[in-house]
Amino acid sequence: MRKLAAGNWKMNGLALSLPEARDLGRMFPSPACDILICPPATLIAQMVWTVQGSPVKVGGQDCHTKVSGAHTGDISAAMLKDAGASAVILGHSERRTDHGETDALVKAKAEAALAAGLIAIVCVGETEAQRDAGTTLDVVGAQIDGSLPEGATAANLVIAYEPVWAIGTGRTPTIAEIAKVHAFIRDRLTRHMGADAAGVRLLYGGSVKPSNATEIFAVPNVDGALVGGASLKAEDFGKIVAAL
Ligand code: PEP
Repeated sequence: MRKLAAGNWKMNGLALSLPEARDLGRMFPSPACDILICPPATLIAQMVWTVQGSPVKVGGQDCHTKVSGAHTGDISAAMLKDAGASAVILGHSERRTDHGETDALVKAKAEAALAAGLIAIVCVGETEAQRDAGTTLDVVGAQIDGSLPEGATAANLVIAYEPVWAIGTGRTPTIAEIAKVHAFIRDRLTRHMGADAAGVRLLYGGSVKPSNATEIFAVPNVDGALVGGASLKAEDFGKIVAAL
């Protein structure tokens, strides 16, 4: 399976300057993994232009469930596709928290993404309170059951396991915990998708940085990373890509 390094720039403008983004493409003329940068929507077309001819692909951070219409401020999956995106992050915990996104909404958005020909990167993960209560697997299982899109295949679906308490905090679960949750996710996907689940890429996300990437990427069922803070610097993101 070809692994995936995905960078989530969140609401940061030209965090990675465009020349640096171009450098990232040049740094890895034939990378061992897929590389995806998800900038804010305002920068998607510009980024697509900047990295053209390189292996770096560009994705969105959210999309609407509908193709078009009276939805002020929203962006559809079809519009992301038109802008040159190849994937979209959905159900990130910041969207679940800031915008009250439910599993059902994430599922509908993911189905819109697949219909537009985008790869849906569906995020799941427990809060610290849920972890402390010992309900991590229950929470993650319910999120998968509720947000998995119809029509998902190994080619068009990616799952990102992102413990909410590990995002942007510098804290990470133990290697054993990551292994346990990723194995659980693989099993849960198999229930829904059968043998195709073996090919779905499972990303770990939450304070991945150059210093812990190698150890995390060696965990079974970790097929890449969704990287926030460390994707804002080409040098750091480049080191994470090189570790895959
Ligand atoms: C994220 O926002 O998806 C994320 C994993 O952030 P960070 O790498 O900064 O923890």
